[in-house]
Amino acid sequence: MHLVAIGGSDAGISTALRARELDPSVDVTVVVADSYPNFSICGIPYYFSREVNPWQSLAHRTHADLEATGMQLRLDTLATSIDVAGQQLTVRDANGQESTIAYDELMVGTGASPSTAGIEAGRLGPDDGVHVLHSMGDTFVLERYLDEHQPETAIIVGAGYVGLEMAEALTVRGLHVTQLQRGPEVLSTLDPELGALVHDELTRHGVDVVTGTRVQQITRTAAGLTVTGEQDGTEFARTADLVLVVVGVRPNTSLLTDAGASTGAGGAVVVDERMRTGLPHVWAAGDGVVTHHRLLGVTYLPLGTTSHKQGRVAGENAIGGSARFAGSLGTQVVKVFDLVAARTGLRDHEAIAAGHTPLSGTAIADDHKAYYPGANPLSIRITGDTESGLLLGAQLVGARGAEIAKRVDTYATALHHGMTVDAMSDLDLSYTPPLGSPWDAVQVATQAWTRQARSIISM
Ligand SMILES: Cc1cc2nc3c(=O)[nH]c(=O)nc-3n(C[C@H](O)[C@H](O)[C@H](O)COP(=O)(O)OP(=O)(O)OC[C@H]3O[C@@H](n4cnc5c(N)ncnc54)[C@H](O)[C@@H]3O)c2cc1C
Repeated sequence: MHLVAIGGSDAGISTALRARELDPSVDVTVVVADSYPNFSICGIPYYFSREVNPWQSLAHRTHADLEATGMQLRLDTLATSIDVAGQQLTVRDANGQESTIAYDELMVGTGASPSTAGIEAGRLGPDDGVHVLHSMGDTFVLERYLDEHQPETAIIVGAGYVGLEMAEALTVRGLHVTQLQRGPEVLSTLDPELGALVHDELTRHGVDVVTGTRVQQITRTAAGLTVTGEQDGTEFARTADLVLVVVGVRPNTSLLTDAGASTGAGGAVVVDERMRTGLPHVWAAGDGVVTHHRLLGVTYLPLGTTSHKQGRVAGENAIGGSARFAGSLGTQVVKVFDLVAARTGLRDHEAIAAGHTPLSGTAIADDHKAYYPGANPLSIRITGDTESGLLLGAQLVGARGAEIAKRVDTYATALHHGMTVDAMSDLDLSYTPPLGSPWDAVQVATQAWTRQARSIISM
């Protein structure tokens, strides 16, 4: 059995590792377009902030670690087409040499590429100071630009989690950052009242945040790089030495669509929960494919955690298993300077679209007993269904060190198991004064939601 995985990031490597783990007799080849297999691209912002150095530390596993598992790596090799009927992959190496690789099973984990959301930049690119960020290649190009040009100012277009992490990293590097966001508040995956806390944290650290801005064009002017667009119906222009566009990703689908696969949510390739593409012996996982969501059905939510899980499912099934991807809840967390913001599940508008009758309420609770030094208030916004009482989602913002990530995971676990908000108040959660309270902040929020829901129902 020869399993070929295309892509050396979360999905491709997870597939290869899982197949080798379950059956060491399987031949596994991983075809990777660049020279950086199994790098943690999620860690890139911390390379720019110089908290992680050298760049080699970003590797989840070294080349030697990977080969020690028994997989073969074909680096700097681009997969160019799939012959589904003939079970062959055509590849092109760094010298432009084409060859074919026969496979019994194929897993496509070609991921996603940075989107530029239609922003016009003419011929301006990284050499001119206009950057995107998704790969180690992008990382080296940006790092070189920072070294060689020593820019003093940067505009970051986008205030999603990558944009926020990079606003912090470039600020730490000494640049003055202007962050432009299209929507009314930064981190649009949160309700604006919680996003506002993140906005304040950025401002507190000197980031100039401009919301409600639709960026249309980047041009070179005498003063530097000028970003123009519209803000609340009027013309908008800002100039900086460097522009970083981080406005999301678009799935890389052409290999599979050229071979006959179809696309769905977010333009990503349709796969089922077993990671089947519908093409015989061809599996797919990661940022290039649709995401099965436990509450929303089929959607597109490209995340590293999901890519690892999908890749593992594909690896198991490609060698004869019957694993299922259990579904995402969109659980995410981001650190912005000294603040952490997280969410899982649905917000009101998503819950309504999914047929629920939601109610959302925010509670503020200390992360641990107030009498013990260092207590910090957390904002926790719970969304539940007023008819069934089911938990639908949670959003949290609080200080770094206040266990936001693990608290959102408590809600994610409850959501995974279909708990009601009220039942969460019965969970036996841990307590010691320096770390929590007899009623953990998680439960202060669920109790507040239950009271709010009862008062509405009895009205
Ligand atoms: C800066 C940054 C921070 C992030 N932080 C987080 C985080 O904190 N948490 C989180 O969950 N997610 C995070 N993500 C998202 C996460 O990194 C991605 O969801 C994840 O890497 C997707 O993995 P993937 O394997 O699907 O694809 P990708 O990482 O996109 O990799 C695709 C792979 O396929 C290869 N490839 C593509 N085309 C071909 C071809 N034709 N032939 C051969 N090889 C090919 C590429 O070289 C690469 O190896 C972050 C992303 C970025 C950019």
